[in-house]
This record gives sequence, structure tokens and C-alpha cells, in this order.
Amino acid sequence: MAEAREGGPLATFQILNPYPDIYAYYDGRTGERFHSDRPNWLDDGAFALGVATYSIISGTEALIYDAHITTTHAAAMQRHIQGLGVTKTTILYSHFHADHIAGAPALRNTNSTFICQRITASKLDETKDELAEDDPPIPDVVIPTTLYSDQLDLKIGDLTVELHNFNIHTRDGTVLWLPSQRLLFAGDTLEDTATYISEAENLPTHLNELRRMADQFPESKILPAHGSPERIAAGGYGTSLIQATIRYIEVMTEPIERPKAWEQMLEKVVEEDVERGDLIYFEEYERVHRDNMEVIREARREAAQV
Ligand SMILES: [Zn+2]
Repeated sequence: MAEAREGGPLATFQILNPYPDIYAYYDGRTGERFHSDRPNWLDDGAFALGVATYSIISGTEALIYDAHITTTHAAAMQRHIQGLGVTKTTILYSHFHADHIAGAPALRNTNSTFICQRITASKLDETKDELAEDDPPIPDVVIPTTLYSDQLDLKIGDLTVELHNFNIHTRDGTVLWLPSQRLLFAGDTLEDTATYISEAENLPTHLNELRRMADQFPESKILPAHGSPERIAAGGYGTSLIQATIRYIEVMTEPIERPKAWEQMLEKVVEEDVERGDLIYFEEYERVHRDNMEVIREARREAAQV
């Protein structure tokens, strides 16, 4: 349990500062577990892989992109931005998965607004009872009431930020684009070392959407929710992360009975991307790679039955 961790629940929490007025709140990739030895969303979906949320600050306003994995983490983000003089906060969810919304109650106050894509809100409403029973439970699911569908421009202080819906990883994916700095906050649409495939029946759409993303945001820097803390601190990934994600999905969905990538370790599948420095190999993603193979096989079995 978190309480049992040496140094307390924030023992390995880091605040990174990749650009002026842009912060990443990073935890995980430590080799230890945070919550429990049993399989659970917090450890296996987030802490083991490393997780970052972000704040973008302009004057006394801040945009927070994802609510972090616990209310303790979210409260630490809140203290940090308050310490910088922020009095008005907008919280944006990248998608409906537990590791992106769990900390939200700690961010709720009289001067905060929660925003998400329309489907994110309906998914949270559908799953809130399950989330309350999950391990660890999320007893208080904050469902945003400010919703958008395809695209929304927001003013945060003097800055304009853009929200864009992409059907990658989940169909409610929201990426955040900061045009003045050509910065793309990708949520779970892009991960290093490999995308965590969910909604595998939509993989052909995910590929088209990744190509649309590459066309729409050329020559940008990318900050993902699950990536290397060193790379995030140094300013993020290049757009080659999008190309690496496309290549990975392509080899995993090769239209033959058993794609070669299913027999290979992830380390081998992404060898060339790692050599080029587009990806950084992180061993914990071997498990994600095996899960990815399983969900693709399952989606193929289901498609064959229809
Ligand atoms: Zn995630």
C-alpha cells in the first residue's frame, strides 16, 4: 500500500520543467509498486510505466492536463501551481481511463472548471459505479460539465490552447496543442516504448488518426502521459514518436495469421526506433506488448464470429 512506501506516497514524485511555465508532474518507473502486489490499474496501467500530468501557466491561470493517479498527487500539483500564484484552474482529461481522472477531487474548488470530450463524460458516467469498486477504488468520480466534440479553443491567461479529439487508444482521446510553442500534449495516444492498445477493434481507425495527427502537427515536440522522465524533462519527443507508433501497430496487425511481431520481444520489434533515438526502450513495456498481442487476437476472434 502507498502508506507503506518508504518516504510516503510522494516519495518519488517529481516536478519537471521542460519549458518556461510548463511543468510535468511525474511519478513511477521506479521498479517498485505503489499500491499492491495484486494486478491493479494504478500499478500496472500507470505507476510501473511512469506517468506524467502537465500544467501550463499564464499569469494567474493554469490549465492542468490530467488529474493524476491519486488525490495525494493531484493535491501536490495544486499546491505547486498555487505557489506560483495561480488562482484560476481549468482541468482537462485526456480520456476516461482511471489513471487519468483518479486525483480529480483534490483539484475541485470554487475557481476550477473541468473539461473533457463528450464521450469521456458519458463513459465516466457509465463506469463510475465500477470505478467505485475498482482496486484501488475511485469513490468520487468528477465528471466534467464543460464538454466539446471535435475541437475547442481555450484561452488560458494570454495563451491560446487547442483541444482536438483523436480516436487513438480510446475514441474519446483529447490531445492538447499549444500553437505558440508547437507543443503537443498527447495523453495516451502516443507512449514510449509502445502504445498500450485498447479498443483493438478500432486499430484501422487508430492508424488513420495517427496519420492525421502527423499531418496536422508537423515539426512539433510531443509530451506523452507515459514516457521517459529524462526525455520529458529535456523537452519531449519528436514527431518520429507518431511514426514509431504507426509502425508498431502496422507490424502487430500484419494481415497474416500470426504476425512475426507476436513472436518477438518488444525490444526486437522496436530495435530500429530505439537505435535512432525515436524511442527509449523500457523493459516494463514487454508486458504491454504481450497484452497488446492478446487484445488483437481477441478482436480477430470476435470479428471472425460475426
Ligand atoms: Zn494511461
